Amino acid sequence: MHNLQMVDLKRQYQKIKPEIDAAIHQVIDSTIFIGGSEVNTLAAELAAYVGVKHVIPCANGTDALQIALMALGLKPGDEVITPSFTYMATVEVVALLGLTPVFVDVHPDTFTLNVESVKNAITPNTKAIIPVHLYGQCADMEPLMALAQAHNIPLIEDNAQAIGGSYTFSDGRTVKTGSMGTISCTSFFPSKNLGCYGDGGAIFTNDSALAERLKMIANHGQKERYYHEMVGCNSRLDAIQAAILRVKLPQLDGYCSARRAAADYYDAAFAGNPRITTPYRAPNAYHVFHQYTLRLSGVDRDGVQQQLAARNIPSMIYYPVPCHKQGMLKAYNTADAVLPVTNMLNECVISLPIHTELTEEELSYISKNFLEIIG
Ligand SMILES: *Cc1c(COP(=O)(O)O)cnc(C)c1O
Repeated sequence: MHNLQMVDLKRQYQKIKPEIDAAIHQVIDSTIFIGGSEVNTLAAELAAYVGVKHVIPCANGTDALQIALMALGLKPGDEVITPSFTYMATVEVVALLGLTPVFVDVHPDTFTLNVESVKNAITPNTKAIIPVHLYGQCADMEPLMALAQAHNIPLIEDNAQAIGGSYTFSDGRTVKTGSMGTISCTSFFPSKNLGCYGDGGAIFTNDSALAERLKMIANHGQKERYYHEMVGCNSRLDAIQAAILRVKLPQLDGYCSARRAAADYYDAAFAGNPRITTPYRAPNAYHVFHQYTLRLSGVDRDGVQQQLAARNIPSMIYYPVPCHKQGMLKAYNTADAVLPVTNMLNECVISLPIHTELTEEELSYISKNFLEIIG
């Protein structure tokens, strides 16, 4: 089998090449490289797509999270509840701002925040909660939102892996991920479900006052040029990336369907194998499979990865070291935090290739070989 990859951006580009190339050239012809109508129009299109009032494009998903925390006006020592079972960026920004990360466990099936654990971790110093929609599945937002509201704690959705996904409330209302938090953040890193051709990110909110602050912080703390009212940063999405994203946004629902179809194929192929637990799909979440992540039992995971590699099948462990055990957080002494589910998952998850261009032939090759190796 030729050149299988975790994510195949080349074939995706080939399908939209004329539109992408035209969009890039049009920005270059305009010489409006920073800001301007491409960025503003993208923001409006994203707001309409996700169903929020305000979208502030920025330089990347990590900046989006940092700016969100800055806009909440938190002070050093304030506690921020996050999962440890996430990409480090979620937690890094908490530490960078001198805030205190408080790790809670995730649910073993959904891989997203366990609401009971969140409840137990809330103290008078809790000033934000960051649910992460890991691997493309929305965290269980309804009880989280009720809990956050009861304690008057803002929620910041880390929607870097789940844009295009949705969540259904018990009253039947279905909304997009990224529309439920006090503030929501996403990333347009190339391999994300809505990826640009470089770095990019965006911040979402329905709160007009917060939107104003977020915009100022992303722009050196200024509203009026050269009048800096607060400490901010410089975080911009450039116009070429915005133009690319404007071509790709109308494809996003199709991209999500293609990922789900690949996941369906794997699920059917692996059903009934006692060593494989296929990804759980919460009935109230439309999973958009940023990753296809299995749990293995009774097999040597390293050996499985090596044998897959020998058959030219890439696989990944997202992530090899959970956040609470990272050297970055030494000063917080979190390595021994009691997170049994996180530690258990960390030992047994494995992700297989998933993207928008997988053919049936490729899916068949991957799953047949994976099953042979697993036994
Ligand atoms: C990718 C990612 C980020 C960071 O996005 P960047 O654009 O790479 O800065 C944050 N959180 C999660 C869960 C991610 O997957």
